[in-house]
Amino acid sequence: MATFLFDKIIFGPVKSRRLGVSLGINLLPVKRKICNFNCIYCECGWTGNIEKSLSHLPGRKQVYEALEAKLSEMKSKNQAPDVITYAGNGEPTLHPDFPGIIDDSIILRNKYFPDARIAVLSNSTTINKPEIKASLLKIDQNILKLDSAIKSTIETHNQPRVNINVKKLIENLAAFNGKVIIQTLFLRGTHKGKEIDNTTAVEIDAWLKAIEKINPSEVMIYTISRDTPEGAELKKVPLAELKKIAALVDSLGIRTQVSG
Ligand code: SF4
Repeated sequence: MATFLFDKIIFGPVKSRRLGVSLGINLLPVKRKICNFNCIYCECGWTGNIEKSLSHLPGRKQVYEALEAKLSEMKSKNQAPDVITYAGNGEPTLHPDFPGIIDDSIILRNKYFPDARIAVLSNSTTINKPEIKASLLKIDQNILKLDSAIKSTIETHNQPRVNINVKKLIENLAAFNGKVIIQTLFLRGTHKGKEIDNTTAVEIDAWLKAIEKINPSEVMIYTISRDTPEGAELKKVPLAELKKIAALVDSLGIRTQVSG
């Protein structure tokens, strides 16, 4: 098993399977993961001690300077990104200056590549905070995780370190009034000797009801594609099955994007 941690604030541009040519921003420490989830499929590996890692966060000025230097270099090479993406070594909205950093990014995007989108990949745990929600409403692609609408499944797949009230989470996602993209990772296999699968009929039924209530602009449906901390115990869901799930979402009149 070889999981991966970013060793810089700015990474790429890379060709992302879901987003296009993406310039990545890692607001978490380099070579260290900070997240309040500990997903069994996380490409960054298992979550460690959050408190110990918080002191290693890059400062707002440092992020601004790194992003400006990269965008300026890309401009001089006529190398436009499709999207500037907040992802990296964990949950970007945990950075205490996240709202200010988003404001800076919008200024820099408008200065260098006004046609580029700004995207945030988040695990949805902080959307109850007004300042985080306000920032996510300012960007072009607010991509929020919902791997299941069943609490016990979230507890197994995402191993949250915060309390998740699923009903409230779905209400908060719906409160974006469609200015949200839902990302759902489907997988099956075993975890601690127990069978897991978020594609069963019961799972899909509950998840679809949640999607209908949230009414997002799009649903990104995908499965594992790289090494996971759980290793060989986790299996990809075949593309044909992902497409069947997508067809159910399409029938609600909601756009989907599938990557197998
Ligand atoms: S939410 Fe994202 S960063 Fe956090 S553990 Fe899950 S996959 Fe990893």
